[in-house]
Amino acid sequence: MRNPGGVGTIMDPDVDQPVQECDSFTCGHCQYVVWVRPTANPADVGGLCKQCMALICPGCVGRMVCVTWEQMLEMQEAKGRTFRSIEETLGHALNEPSLV
Ligand SMILES: [Zn+2]
Ligand SMILES: [Zn+2]
Repeated sequence: MRNPGGVGTIMDPDVDQPVQECDSFTCGHCQYVVWVRPTANPADVGGLCKQCMALICPGCVGRMVCVTWEQMLEMQEAKGRTFRSIEETLGHALNEPSLV
């Protein structure tokens, strides 16, 4: 597994502390970076794809299909599409961190 996880520091406007450490993981399908609050419900922040055994983001969990990043790039290249169309397929911007 690439990018099995990481720890980052973010600003959180909801708490008094100006800085809060959060775990993050990169979606194995779309490379979306998901930030996870320590108190977040694991079921709300994504899941594990049973086919490629990668952690995936909530959007990919909802699609119920296993399409890895490499497969997606190959499909897009075959069609001569751009990253923008990948974003439209995913329904969200690429590599734009989100706090769950
Ligand atoms: Zn994803
Ligand atoms: Zn998968």
